[in-house]
Amino acid sequence: MNLIFLGAPGSGKGTQAEFVSEKMNILPVSTGNILRDAVKNQTEAGLAAKKFMDAGDLVPDEVVIGILKDRIAQPDAKNGFILDGFPRTVEQAKALEEMGVKIDLVVEIDVPDERICGRMGGRRVCDKCGASYHIEYKPTKVESKCDSCDGNAIQRADDKPETVLDRLKVYHEKTAPLRDFYAKLGKLKTVEGQIEIADTKRLTFEAIGIQ
Ligand code: AMP
Repeated sequence: MNLIFLGAPGSGKGTQAEFVSEKMNILPVSTGNILRDAVKNQTEAGLAAKKFMDAGDLVPDEVVIGILKDRIAQPDAKNGFILDGFPRTVEQAKALEEMGVKIDLVVEIDVPDERICGRMGGRRVCDKCGASYHIEYKPTKVESKCDSCDGNAIQRADDKPETVLDRLKVYHEKTAPLRDFYAKLGKLKTVEGQIEIADTKRLTFEAIGIQ
């Protein structure tokens, strides 16, 4: 099964993608995590992406499409994958079609902007494996330490309030049109993001038809 998780930055789509990936044993693919690794390792793609990411802007389509294509060609993606943060533009969605990737379902996690701005400050991400946390809603077991590896749960540079507003603007302009794109294909299901992660999880599993 190939799934797409769609939603604004901070909507919780990464967290829900982790739950579903664990439950269905399919690979989670976060282009944001891949890009952050590329920046850390100063690869060519990382160097090309950094200034866009720092500004809260989208990395050019050709860079991201190349990265995604390489990742889903790996053997561990054979049984299916969950795309978290890709596609983010209609061009990227069309590129997926051109690659011959069949998408079974697109799950949109819908959260009002006001709530996103309010909770973004508490978001943390593991600097090693990319696992996501929130100091209030999904705290690490040991403060600032990742539960799954020996990495540190840190705040992302682009989670600063000024950059969050830019990222939300970019989401509405460039990514939200994907709702229509996939709705027309009859593939879109929308989940209203809840305050409690467990409640969103239940609705997300229901939308996919798993328990
Ligand atoms: P995320 O972790 O999904 O919030 O992504 C962090 C940043 O990486 C975004 O703000 C973009 O700068 C970049 N990025 C991630 N995925 C994409 C994508 N599919 N297209 C363009 N830029 C992306």
